[in-house]
Amino acid sequence: MPHVYGLQSAQAEFQKRAAALASGELNAHAADVDAKGRFPHESLDALARKGFLGLSVPEQFGGAGQGPRVFAAVAEELAQGCGSTAMIFVMHVAAAQAIAASTTLARKDEVLRSIAAGTHLTTLAFSEKGSRSQFWAPVSALVNDNGAFVASAEKSWVTSAHHADSYVSSAQKPGAASPLESTLYLIDRTNSGVRVHGSFDGLGLRGNDSAPAVIERASVAQDDLITPLGEGAAAMLQVVLPWFNVGTAAMANGLCRAATAATAAHLQHTGFAHTGTSLRDLPTLRARLADMSVRTEQARAFLGYALGEIEHPSDATPLLVLQTRLASIEAALDVTELAMKACGGAAFSRQLPVERIFRDARAGWVMAPTADHLRDFVGRALTGLPLF
Ligand SMILES: Cc1cc2nc3c(=O)[nH]c(=O)nc-3n(C[C@H](O)[C@H](O)[C@H](O)COP(=O)(O)OP(=O)(O)OC[C@H]3O[C@@H](n4cnc5c(N)ncnc54)[C@H](O)[C@@H]3O)c2cc1C
Repeated sequence: MPHVYGLQSAQAEFQKRAAALASGELNAHAADVDAKGRFPHESLDALARKGFLGLSVPEQFGGAGQGPRVFAAVAEELAQGCGSTAMIFVMHVAAAQAIAASTTLARKDEVLRSIAAGTHLTTLAFSEKGSRSQFWAPVSALVNDNGAFVASAEKSWVTSAHHADSYVSSAQKPGAASPLESTLYLIDRTNSGVRVHGSFDGLGLRGNDSAPAVIERASVAQDDLITPLGEGAAAMLQVVLPWFNVGTAAMANGLCRAATAATAAHLQHTGFAHTGTSLRDLPTLRARLADMSVRTEQARAFLGYALGEIEHPSDATPLLVLQTRLASIEAALDVTELAMKACGGAAFSRQLPVERIFRDARAGWVMAPTADHLRDFVGRALTGLPLF
């Protein structure tokens, strides 16, 4: 059967390798990563070793040069093994795409080569304390400093904050008239001006290390700019957002698949000794499982359709890219809630992975663009209003 994301046979090899990694290395550590809220080192090492950190880096820099279809299929598989690892991977790929699209970053080749070699992890540092989820409007601003810049910012959530080698960060250009006049720049985590504050202790994706980071009077050279001054918003919306939306939609779909598979197995293999019947003999539970499966496949089919649009863009593509993330993150909420109900106390306890998947699935909804933002953007697009 053809893959729902339209993978050709060579592309399907990446998906199969990701599935093997997810059911092996990622799955082996996922419960411990979640329980301890620790970074999934073993899984990231495995991703690096198997070449997945360079999955979408252009071949000329040593990467696998794979586009959004394969990225989606891989993110979906990884999410079935460990949600935190999938999150780190998605942020890394989205940030790497900003770097790959840069026309200004002097060390672009070097950074992309290290990413492709699996020795460089990157991430996005967009959200700020001042503008919260409205990442497109950084309140921090670069200040001119003898041909270079000084950056100060309170970044509120940075996935892999303690572990990424670099952050793709945003700020207003010097003297900007509006927060939309922004710029992206690359800053090393080891820059003396970067301080990560505390650790992540959240409901789900507990290993993703999404901690606040302060950038304090850090020196940013012209050569560190990822976009020309004032062109940050365009890069955020036209480069980073499509990859982020595809990646997080696929992640949500992977969580749906994991919840559906765990529920199906539980209903099949658990029963009542006093009647000799199984949970699957209860029509209510079978109906819940059927609804879970339909919602999951609807979300996957929508993403498959959007991926085709991304390959052959039309005026409708930006809207579909917003809608596919919305469809998937809403499906993940509903499907994992149904899984909790279908599996009962076994899900509520930690006997099954269902409660972890339920918690992990809730992150996509609050990550910007949040479900609220997406609804507003889609409604604006449909009624001819500008997005901002
Ligand atoms: C696990 C995780 C990892 C993350 N990783 C990163 C990362 O690597 N890099 C990064 O930059 N950020 C990251 N974020 C941050 C994320 O993208 C959001 O910025 C953050 O979750 C917003 O939380 P808040 O409390 O500031 O939201 P608020 O902005 O306070 O929002 C509160 C509520 O108001 C709603 N709301 C806000 N603005 C609008 C609006 N204009 N229209 C309608 N409703 C609105 C929101 O939908 C939300 O329901 C991460 C978040 C999570 C949960």
